[in-house]
Amino acid sequence: MPSWPESCGVVVGVANKRSLAWAIARAAHAAGARLVLTYQNERLRENVEDLAATLDPAPLLLPCDVSLDADIAALFARVGAEWPDGLDFLVHGAAFAPREAISEPFLKTSREAWRVALDVSAYSLVALANGAAPLMAARGGGSMLTLTYLGSERVFPNYNVMGVAKAALEASVRYLASDLGPQNIRVNAISAGPVKTLAAAGVSGFSSILRVYQERAPLRRNIETAEVAEAALFLLGPAGRGVTAEVLHVDCGYHAMGM
Ligand code: NAP
Repeated sequence: MPSWPESCGVVVGVANKRSLAWAIARAAHAAGARLVLTYQNERLRENVEDLAATLDPAPLLLPCDVSLDADIAALFARVGAEWPDGLDFLVHGAAFAPREAISEPFLKTSREAWRVALDVSAYSLVALANGAAPLMAARGGGSMLTLTYLGSERVFPNYNVMGVAKAALEASVRYLASDLGPQNIRVNAISAGPVKTLAAAGVSGFSSILRVYQERAPLRRNIETAEVAEAALFLLGPAGRGVTAEVLHVDCGYHAMGM
């Protein structure tokens, strides 16, 4: 990957100023990267537009609902036109599960809620990787990063089908890393500790998760989004060039604890 000031990347999953993807976008911008930010639909465009306007130079904004193949194809066609020399990195921070699936018992998960959660939160990485890979290959390599949570490995109250989706997402990271490694394209995930964002607020009882982490994580506190962003820059940039197929826990060490 070129040094940050010459690099360009696509960031998917900025909803508002608390979004983990926004923290990563800001850090990459501060390091000198040029950015494309996406928004899911016209209704949500204004939020992302206001945030993008705080960066100079402002990132290009493009629509992309990650559940629509046509949106993904249009996104990367436009990115390819914008940056004919290719793309260096992709940040995937999109996740969604229908509200009832993250508030009712997991046993009650409907086929439709399962389909939507796994489509938006896991398959979307595969679809975006397909669009991004040729542009990264043209550049001689690249780096993809997604965001996951420990609910893929352990049971957390009400995380439910999202935990299943994150398990699929983490497995997808390994398979994509295997497919794309020969083109010098790396694929990794950050398993972040809990942060009160829009998506997190949808999980019933989320504040009790925050409280337990603070009490029991080795560092006895919750993470800050800046810590996720700095770890992301490591995995996305030249310092992480030997790392792929990895799930890096940025969670104040909580994942290591038995109780
Ligand atoms: P967030 O700000 O709500 O971000 C989630 C993003 O997913 C939003 O930008 C949302 O866009 C987007 N999204 C949902 N459906 C989409 C679709 N069909 N097409 C395109 N985008 C779509 O929450 P966040 O916590 O920062 O989440 C970012 C990632 O971090 C997620 O993968 C999440 O699971 C993961 N994560 C979060 C935590 C945490 O505690 N917050 C911990 C570990 C991992 P709209 O709002 O515009 O729909």
